[in-house]
Amino acid sequence: MNPLAPREDAVTPEPRSPGLAHRAGLGRGQLRYQRCAHCAAAVFPPRTLCPDCGEQKLSWERSTGDGTVYATTVVRGRDGAHNVVLVDLDDGFRMMSRVEGPAPEDVAIGDRVRFRTTADGDTAVFEPKEDAR
Ligand SMILES: [Zn+2]
Repeated sequence: MNPLAPREDAVTPEPRSPGLAHRAGLGRGQLRYQRCAHCAAAVFPPRTLCPDCGEQKLSWERSTGDGTVYATTVVRGRDGAHNVVLVDLDDGFRMMSRVEGPAPEDVAIGDRVRFRTTADGDTAVFEPKEDAR
């Protein structure tokens, strides 16, 4: 038997993937993104290195959750219609999501929105930010 071979029963903790860390944040009602230690870019979706400069040192930050609709479209399916939006977060990153509350076609570019999670805590969605209307 090779003494240097890894033992079958040895448990090596898997490094938590960026995607898992992001979902863990959602489970606590937090929208998290990464900040590059080298160029300070806001990084989203979660990655293992900065897409701007290649730096691997990315720290997690909690987003304010406030943003502005950059683009919106209505998707019509068998179960009805819903919107798909791109939201520019005030923290400096853009994400795809949906706005819940208003009719899908009533969501407009420039609308101020606020992040929340779905009831199951699995998905980041947005709702109109009332105080901005
Ligand atoms: Zn960078």
